[in-house]
Amino acid sequence: MKKLWMMVLSVAVLSTGAFAKEIYVTIGSDAIDMSQKSLMTANAIATSSEITVLKINEKDIEKLSHLMHVNFNRCGGFIVHDSEQEAIAVLNNNAVRKTAKSLNFLNYTITEGERVQNMISRVNEFKMRDMILKLSSFNNRYYKSQSGVDSQAYVKSTWEAIAAGRTDAKVEYFMHSAWPQPSVVMTVEGSTMKDEILVIGGHADSIAGFWGRERARAPGADDNASGIATITEIMRVMMETGYKPQRTVKFMAYAAEEVGLKGSKAIADQYKAQGKNVVGVVQFDMTNHKGTKNLDIVFMKDFTNEAQTKFMGSLIDTYVTGVSWGYSKCGYGCSDHASWHNVGYPASMPFESTMGDINGKIHTKNDTIDAVGSQDTADHAEKFARLGVAYLVEMGK
Ligand SMILES: [Zn+2]
Repeated sequence: MKKLWMMVLSVAVLSTGAFAKEIYVTIGSDAIDMSQKSLMTANAIATSSEITVLKINEKDIEKLSHLMHVNFNRCGGFIVHDSEQEAIAVLNNNAVRKTAKSLNFLNYTITEGERVQNMISRVNEFKMRDMILKLSSFNNRYYKSQSGVDSQAYVKSTWEAIAAGRTDAKVEYFMHSAWPQPSVVMTVEGSTMKDEILVIGGHADSIAGFWGRERARAPGADDNASGIATITEIMRVMMETGYKPQRTVKFMAYAAEEVGLKGSKAIADQYKAQGKNVVGVVQFDMTNHKGTKNLDIVFMKDFTNEAQTKFMGSLIDTYVTGVSWGYSKCGYGCSDHASWHNVGYPASMPFESTMGDINGKIHTKNDTIDAVGSQDTADHAEKFARLGVAYLVEMGK
């Protein structure tokens, strides 16, 4: 009887809460005006020149995601927090962000030429194309839909098959209690420096349209099946060649990026709380649309680590022949690297074009592989997999 009453009570609390739940997000201060004009509520609680804490209605999350995409070309563009206190703490953690930008953890040296070149030569565009097509074939990979759960099961089983026979590798779900889609993490334990961790990640969810998100067709071929295909190809080459890193490597397919970097934030916050030593993070979010003439790989300069990003440029010059690179900016919270940056870890974000030349089809039913600048191939994404292999080996040593 008591249990029954508690159930009735909690259902009542939950259902009233669902109508009016207010949540706190951090967002670029350049987006305040737009948010206040377009959302039911958007109260600026605290602000700095770069970042603002907004109190919004939880029901407006998807709308905000859409607006940030349409108005600012940002894939995510804001971060959802667990409380007002936490959001304000993030706003005020300039010192942590400064550290994340300026840290110089390692000797960024290039010494593994023979191994890297052998591994890079095995990167296979057809396999990447296949992975993009498979992921795009789910109706959507939305964080609340069954197909978004099924697509992560597909990523998990694909990664398990790639790692079969490797006793140093395991693939696990990272469960999120507030929504059904899990993140997927493959851990390859370092042979000599297992407490030093490299994170190679990208988001696995997709989104399209304004309403009916669970049912909306969202192939997300470029955003971000291309990034997951890039990560998958890096690990496939790693396993095919029997490469064993000295540092621990974590490959991550994050849930729920499109609705405020929720999946990566949960993981990065947990790593921080556990005092894990993450020495490098790289984010692959959109790799298959060649949108900028004469520029292949574009590194985001804001909210990223300077030294590691520069090192990745040197890796391209050394190993990824015929590929040009440059810089752009994407604003606060544009993708999952921001979750790591915000807690002080050094992160880089190599992107497919400048922000001005971003693929206009993302977040619609038309984000398909035939609609990108590499025309029905994974030719552009392949360049990122080659860079990722070089990063893995030179950082893993
Ligand atoms: Zn994305």
